[in-house]
Amino acid sequence: MPIGNIVILGCGGYIGSHLLDRLLREPGNKIFGWDLEHRKIEHHLGNPALNFEESNIGSTYARQRLEEQVASADVVINLAAICNPAEYNTEPLRVLDANLFDLQPVLRMCAEQRKWLIHFSTSEIYGRTISSYLPDESFDDPDLYVLKEDETPLIMGPIRNQRWTYAAAKQVVERLVYAYHRERGMPFTVIRPLNFFGPRMDYLPGHDGDGVPRVLASFMAALIDRKPLQLVDGGWARRTIVSIDDAMDAVMAVLQQPERSQNQFFNVGNPDNEVTVRELAELMRTVYAEITDDKTYLEHPIHDVSAADFYGAGYEDCDRRMPSIEKAKALLGWTPRKSLRTTLQETMRAYHETYVVQAAASGAPAEATGPAVSSEEAR
Ligand code: NAD
Ligand code: UDP
Repeated sequence: MPIGNIVILGCGGYIGSHLLDRLLREPGNKIFGWDLEHRKIEHHLGNPALNFEESNIGSTYARQRLEEQVASADVVINLAAICNPAEYNTEPLRVLDANLFDLQPVLRMCAEQRKWLIHFSTSEIYGRTISSYLPDESFDDPDLYVLKEDETPLIMGPIRNQRWTYAAAKQVVERLVYAYHRERGMPFTVIRPLNFFGPRMDYLPGHDGDGVPRVLASFMAALIDRKPLQLVDGGWARRTIVSIDDAMDAVMAVLQQPERSQNQFFNVGNPDNEVTVRELAELMRTVYAEITDDKTYLEHPIHDVSAADFYGAGYEDCDRRMPSIEKAKALLGWTPRKSLRTTLQETMRAYHETYVVQAAASGAPAEATGPAVSSEEAR
């Protein structure tokens, strides 16, 4: 069933590109998409159902255009953000602008026109677990670490630890969204993603970008370039990984059931796929050894690096992100299905195809190239 007219902010990013794949499959959807770049959605740009504007949503031009688009929209989806931890402590002002201030006019528009806003927030608004502040840091009591949308307190570190600028900005946006709902009657849904893994996340440094991407892309680049995986502070932190396909099923369930999803906050993650970052590094090299049929990857070097050396001053890690997904199960009928191993196999195969196989076929050295989207994925 088509959703109708959909405004998507940040449609050219990782999640946006997968969401467009889903929404443009369905005849009858009309998308008004905005982003600063288009590499990951190049395969959709000729589609008449997509009206793409490559522009900053904070610009005067965008605000004027958005007024009209929001007026005709059935739903507005916000994905626009700077959401790479390497930037939270190094570019906090940009992070605050992109995640909060640039967004506020659009939130106001949605509130004035009482349009349904689906806002992508983050599990990071929970901050650190209560357990991590107890003297023995034990995880014996799930009430002290399982993240529940409507119950768990939000615990962030001190201001000098600028890692928390992103989480703080996202928290203010959630509070604004909720206030617009309570005081102005704006319908909303907040989605809190927990480490979606799939093709097209970020960029691979030295191939199609520079800097420090999120962990999947960071480890992937190191494997492809045969450089050591950099394990921050020994890889003690834990994450739960959900496949991008399962995650997109959750987003579609939200879109297709407004009567059940509106005015709710949802964790979207997979509690069955928990790993420490060290375990993730070890599993990724095993899976890559299978994909490449190269056993030397089983012993691929993993180097420890301190957070201060890797990210610079002001980085502080989230210790554990174990979501409760009971709400999404009960209200949306959604359950994630893909195991961590399957998710890594599918994702890493897609990266290998794009950055190694296709790069070689195009005659370019693997280290110097790599389109954001493989022609295989684009089909
Ligand atoms: P992404 O960085 O790939 O996509 C964000 C997009 O927003 C980028 O393409 C960027 O160019 C665009 N953007 C940023 N500022 C803009 C502006 N002013 N005007 C126009 N476009 C702008 O990130 P993603 O992984 O696709 O994440 C999407 C959303 O989900 C974000 O809000 C993020 O905070 C949230 N999230 C994602 C994850 C995850 O696992 N991927 C985890 C937690 C939260
Ligand atoms: N990390 C790492 N090596 C890298 C990149 C990240 O050890 O090359 C760690 C990082 O310190 C964190 C986890 O991997 O503990 C996940 O980081 P990511 O950047 O993916 O984002 P997060 O899950 O913290 O939002």
